[in-house]
Amino acid sequence: MCYAIPGQVVALDGRIATVEYFGERRQAYNEFPSLKVGDFVYAQGGFVIKVVPPEEAQEILAVWKETFFELQEVDLRLARLEVEREGVERRVLRILDKALEERPLSKKELLALLGLQSPRERELLYKVANFLRRKYHGNATCVHGILEISNFCFRNCAYCGLSTHNGSLWRYRMSDEEVLEAVREAVEVYGFQALVLQSGEDPGRSVEELAELVREIKRRHAVLIFVSFGEIGLEGLEVLYEAGARGILLRFETSNAELYEKLHPGYNLSQRLAHLERALELGYIVATGGLIGLPGQRLSDILEDIFLTRALSAEMYSFGPFLPHPATPLAFSAPPSPSLVLNTLAVARLVDPKNAKILITTAFETLDPRAREIGLLSGASSLMLNVTPLRFRPHYALYPGRAHEEETVQEQIAQTLRLLRSLGRAPMDLGV
Ligand code: SF4
Repeated sequence: MCYAIPGQVVALDGRIATVEYFGERRQAYNEFPSLKVGDFVYAQGGFVIKVVPPEEAQEILAVWKETFFELQEVDLRLARLEVEREGVERRVLRILDKALEERPLSKKELLALLGLQSPRERELLYKVANFLRRKYHGNATCVHGILEISNFCFRNCAYCGLSTHNGSLWRYRMSDEEVLEAVREAVEVYGFQALVLQSGEDPGRSVEELAELVREIKRRHAVLIFVSFGEIGLEGLEVLYEAGARGILLRFETSNAELYEKLHPGYNLSQRLAHLERALELGYIVATGGLIGLPGQRLSDILEDIFLTRALSAEMYSFGPFLPHPATPLAFSAPPSPSLVLNTLAVARLVDPKNAKILITTAFETLDPRAREIGLLSGASSLMLNVTPLRFRPHYALYPGRAHEEETVQEQIAQTLRLLRSLGRAPMDLGV
């Protein structure tokens, strides 16, 4: 099973390759010295990750060709802006018309959208976000895999089930062999082109050991590696980049410095942001974002979180709901409503219509089983499937009852492809 469509290189300008997919052209950063015009490649996250033999590419493209245009038709139909305007306040209509004309919205206007409650008005917001998603991203949907290699963490984040607050959690650390085998399966059996390696801040594996693991994965497979090991230090970022990691998933969780310090005693937001800024300087693709609905968080904080994500030039926006874990200090706080999560995704699309790949998080899927479908129709464009071996997965207990805890990778793939097909989306990543 393949999660990307090969494209053909039609131009090369230094390290930038222009790649064509059924007539659509995208650019990707090339690290293959022998790449030439006419070659077929897989590009993920804006990087050329693999040169594909022409016969293999032609075969895959022949299968995709008809499907690709059929999917585009479905997507186009679903993204049409035929909506009932009756029952929508004139002020909301004015703001959404402005969004469609792509005139910048003021904070006040964005806050009004973020706080929308009426189903009719929210529906219109989601339609506008979906329209803009389609305009700039076509029907491309990123489908990355995530592999949770260890649930050890020495930090004390007040909301997290992996934190030191949770003394009863069975802790695991996959061995290098187990990680390499899980990666082999994800890449060779299931065809993932991009994988996130994730853990808590685990003192049991040094940055050098992590780097060696990344190097070994890169030696064995053509796959885009994101690292998500928390704050590994500015030098650590460099070491992992040199080892071959090209993406980082590191959420700042909240842009409100005071709230950040309350939730992360002993740590501060500037330290977090320094990591993200350094990662950008080094050339990482950055995936970041925040928690929605934290106790003490205001709507304006969520809006600032979206602004901060844009200011960090994040390629992927990762915003998920706060879900209380019983072994943490926030055990008795309520999660947000699914509609606040959807409003956040839609407003993020309005704030950054052209660049944002907006992720539907597993936390959102846990809060609302329809998250993928409703999220993809409200401006979101990315999914992650969990490729952690089933024997470890339930122990990565960030919050209780995580979605997909017991589903095999095959089951997740089958469900995802069914859903994407019904929405007219192609599981691919067309680069930058
Ligand atoms: S949020 Fe991350 S750093 Fe904080 S306790 Fe959980 S796993 Fe550790």
